[in-house]
Amino acid sequence: VSSEDPEDCTFCKILSGQLPCTKVFENDEILAFLDIAPISRGHTLVIPKTHVSSLTLASPSIMSSLGSVLPQISNAVIQGVGAKDFNLLQNNGQIAGQVVFHLHFHIIPRFKDVESGR
Ligand code: 5GP
Ligand code: ZN
Repeated sequence: VSSEDPEDCTFCKILSGQLPCTKVFENDEILAFLDIAPISRGHTLVIPKTHVSSLTLASPSIMSSLGSVLPQISNAVIQGVGAKDFNLLQNNGQIAGQVVFHLHFHIIPRFKDVESGR
């Protein structure tokens, strides 16, 4: 069930510890964790700790926090799974494929051979 209400937000529940996750990175403003249904090995989600449903509603301060850690998290993720290349993806709104209405960036490592993950 997707909702724009923080009370009913999957990622806010992860942030409060109501739902488990596999943490990749954390600081005061940002959490990164593995996607529960990975598109590829190492598929990671990066979220602000403040609930905001869409990129269009994100404050400069939230975007600054995200922007200042996305390069290092991306690098750690691809190094961790032995990938060289990756996609950075971000969906806004139902028609665009957004399912969880808490702003997030997908880091999706890409492999030459998807089957072997190399
Ligand atoms: P969206 O389509 O909204 O951009 O992506 C939402 C992502 O969140 C999906 O890739 C989905 O697999 C992931 N996701 C949904 N619920 C959970 C959860 O409870 N835990 C984790 N780790 N990922 C989730
Ligand atoms: Zn939320």
